[in-house]
Amino acid sequence: MKNFINVKVCRKCELPLNINDFSSHSSGKFKVRSVCKLCSAIDYKIYRAANPEKELLKLQNWRASNPEKSRQQSRDWDSKNRGRRKAIKAKRRANLLNATPNWVKDSDLDPYYFQAVELSHFLGISMEVDHIHPLTHDDICGLHIPANLQIIPLKQNRKKSNKFTPYVESEGNPNILL
Ligand SMILES: [Zn+2]
Repeated sequence: MKNFINVKVCRKCELPLNINDFSSHSSGKFKVRSVCKLCSAIDYKIYRAANPEKELLKLQNWRASNPEKSRQQSRDWDSKNRGRRKAIKAKRRANLLNATPNWVKDSDLDPYYFQAVELSHFLGISMEVDHIHPLTHDDICGLHIPANLQIIPLKQNRKKSNKFTPYVESEGNPNILL
């Protein structure tokens, strides 16, 4: 009998559903909404797609009134996407310098940046992707290609900066992907 009482028909999909399939609401027979959770979610998705600028405004308002949550959220996003972000930055820089041959795919380069972030977490020191032959140098122009990438500690990279020792032939890539 109890089960029977807890069944409600959704106004949208017209299916008899358990009360738990509806979000709670201050009024109504069972103190739940007339449209089921799934239908509401679908409606909201359609609405969002149709009103992108309204959604953006809502997001901005939410950020303004929840600064701490908003910061935490972007920190979380950042730690997840740091590798991607770095890969994009490096790509932009290399593109500006015309250092990326057109046969190089993002999927060839991105793993180095993801791995640098992973290694940083693992080792507890900041690791960075470095161009063995610098992209900008008076004597040579390195390329943004896998064979010219190595993962080295940030400190070492800053020290190395743009220095390049001529006549030293690098034997392949010393820091290959794990
Ligand atoms: Zn429904």
